[in-house]
Amino acid sequence: MNEIAEIINGTLHSGIPVEIMEYSIDSRSVVTPEHTLFFALTGNNHNGHDYIRTLYSDGMRAFVISEFREEFNQLTGANFIVVENVLTALQQLAAHHRQHTQAEVIGITGSNGKTVVKEWLYQLLVNDHAVYRSPRSYNSQVGVPLSLLGIDPKTEIAIIEAGISLKGEMQHLQQMIQPTIGIFTHLGDAHGENFASKEEKLAEKAQLFTSCQWVIGQTGEALEYIKTRVPSTTSFLLWGEDPKADIHVKTMNIALGHREVQVTFGNKHFILDIPFPDIASYENCMNAVSILLLKQYSPNVIISRVQQLSAIAMRMEIKDGINNCTLVNDYYNSDPSSFQLALNILATQDASKERVVILSDFMDTGKSGDDLYPSIAETLRQANISLFIGIGKHLSEHRHDFAANSRFYEDTEHFLRQEERDNFNNQIILIKGARAFQLEYIAGFLQKQSHSTILEVDLDAMVHNLNHFRSLTDAHIAVMVKAFSYGSGSREIASLLQYHRVDYLMVAFADEGIELRAAGITIPIAVMNPEREAFDNMIMFNLEPEIYALDILEDFNQALNKHGIKRFPVHIKLNTGMNRSGFDEQDIPQLLEFFEAERSVYIRSIFSHLAGSDEAKHDDFTLKQIHLFERMTECIQSRFNYKIWRHILNSAGIERFPQYHFDLVRLGIGLHGISATNAQLQAVSSFKTYISSIRNVPEGQSIGYGRKSYTTRPSRIAVIPVGYADGLNRHLSNRVGNVFVKGKRVPIIGNICMDTCMIDITDTDATTGDEVEIFGKHIPVTELAEQLGTIPYEILTGISFRVKRVYYKE
Ligand SMILES: *Cc1c(COP(=O)(O)O)cnc(C)c1O
Repeated sequence: MNEIAEIINGTLHSGIPVEIMEYSIDSRSVVTPEHTLFFALTGNNHNGHDYIRTLYSDGMRAFVISEFREEFNQLTGANFIVVENVLTALQQLAAHHRQHTQAEVIGITGSNGKTVVKEWLYQLLVNDHAVYRSPRSYNSQVGVPLSLLGIDPKTEIAIIEAGISLKGEMQHLQQMIQPTIGIFTHLGDAHGENFASKEEKLAEKAQLFTSCQWVIGQTGEALEYIKTRVPSTTSFLLWGEDPKADIHVKTMNIALGHREVQVTFGNKHFILDIPFPDIASYENCMNAVSILLLKQYSPNVIISRVQQLSAIAMRMEIKDGINNCTLVNDYYNSDPSSFQLALNILATQDASKERVVILSDFMDTGKSGDDLYPSIAETLRQANISLFIGIGKHLSEHRHDFAANSRFYEDTEHFLRQEERDNFNNQIILIKGARAFQLEYIAGFLQKQSHSTILEVDLDAMVHNLNHFRSLTDAHIAVMVKAFSYGSGSREIASLLQYHRVDYLMVAFADEGIELRAAGITIPIAVMNPEREAFDNMIMFNLEPEIYALDILEDFNQALNKHGIKRFPVHIKLNTGMNRSGFDEQDIPQLLEFFEAERSVYIRSIFSHLAGSDEAKHDDFTLKQIHLFERMTECIQSRFNYKIWRHILNSAGIERFPQYHFDLVRLGIGLHGISATNAQLQAVSSFKTYISSIRNVPEGQSIGYGRKSYTTRPSRIAVIPVGYADGLNRHLSNRVGNVFVKGKRVPIIGNICMDTCMIDITDTDATTGDEVEIFGKHIPVTELAEQLGTIPYEILTGISFRVKRVYYKE
């Protein structure tokens, strides 16, 4: 601490000795507090001194401060170095650290591409040298010193980024970095709000190179100007198409996914195959390759390393989006010229798709919005963009410059709140803008979902099953679509059923019915659990209540009176032995009494529900229920001069009691392929996932939580991304349950986890990405239900909402 205090001209209040291994300015990102020196920076609305107590309680004992507060006296054992300016102290320490390193320091500056050049240079050099590079894009007045402090004694080459936004800043950075080699990446069009001219900005940047032996860059105006700003002893190694360039390059061929460039340097003459076709990647790559040439790397090594360059997340990326969309993500820089570049890329994509641009406000362009946005709007028109979405206050203010169908949001959050995924379909979407807008969230929202555990719903099978039940009866058909249509989906299934002309839909709760009305379902819908709070909505949306008690009937009738509506259909529920809900036989006189006055409700149907229609052993009881039902309904019907429908059969009842179909039958599980009589029905839902990874496990090893299963031979164990949170019942763990992979059933091994589970695929040749069926066409859901001691209903309705429903139809 003494030594550090001396370097930064501070006064030390010493505490316990500490060995400093980390430097931090951010109280949130400290890894080893006991070995960290914290710099308490002060900013406009942030003061590092405020966090010292908390950091102390986390174990931190070393602080650089500018103000010794009374409260710090209580922090026994803490070391404080008091300086005049904490930022200056940080920079002094970094400069000192830099001066004492043996490493060769390469400094990179320019408007765009700094981070990519840094990362690529790292990729190209790391096989031969101990290379250190600035973390992330630490290139500011604070970022650079932290970068430099990370150089360790073993470092041979340190690559440091330098970025500026104000006049006078580069001088500080230069004094710290003192690069011996400099790279100038690119000069953007924009001079930025803080510079009077392009020259002024360039002059500022050129200061990084005043100590360099070598400066690298592309031939052209910018570098010519830089030559005039550095000592005459500085050497330049410039690349370009210009014949006078030191490294002469010529693009031979641009193809999908790569670019071939001919390079001539002295007597070296070779062709580089750069694995990215765009011009920015080409420039970044050539800047990095120039360093290799300077270091006398042979063409063969350069060629093979360049071929292996991998994309840096910061460059533009093209990805699969939702609903067959393609995303072009470019949210790492924002200026009009890079926007034009991005539009050019957009133009090279699939011409059959519409083009959408999502753009944030430009930052730091040095132009006013009135100069900027009308011309952006014009550019969009020329590029044939069919939909524009602007993010940010400035774009929103200029909405009138843009096409009428454009949409505007104040910020990314508002976009996410108001847009829906289904607004985007079969389009190519450019997402472009400044980092501050965090457009990566929009990209994430529109990206194809990788969690691809799905419930696949075969609509043809469903229609087949519907038709089978139709063939059994002349009665009207109601289909039970409660609980998300037994897990298969509400809107989609209801639309299919409406199309196939079923007579009624029945839901459990009013909101399920409202959702169907919102989805354009116009056929009658009955609600089995009508709640009083929902009466108004039910009346408004024509949702017909099941009436199972007199007080509900009275209240609903009153609600109708309030709306002035007459003859609103209701369904009277009778209890014949299920003993859950409904009027008992002795309640009927009261019920009839209610109807002695004129009422607004109209009895569309009277019904009851069977308790054991699927099992022969209950048939006597079932018949008793039916006969009681007949007696009760006759009694009620005799008091009304209109025909009231009667119904009592669910799916199993339809199959097993054909003589009691009455006027309507209520089809439920049968639609989903489950028969009480082994009729030829088809499985509708398949719960599917895929193998996400495979591991070879020796004999005798336990698998997963709680160590409940062991391998009994050398095994191949696959992970599938489905767990109990998706609706995979945990009782299927440890070889109880099977899944179907590559034509075979294989056991689930180990305990099922929340989001994943393991399966034993030793007996298959399955590989990563292969489809896995949990139930469906090969493993009937009934089998699973039996293993679990439950009924298929519970399994189907237990598939969690996060599992995407995918519908298909031949
Ligand atoms: C769910 C339900 C049905 C359908 O039963 P399934 O066994 O699925 O055919 C019929 N009637 C009522 C009242 C129901 O709640």
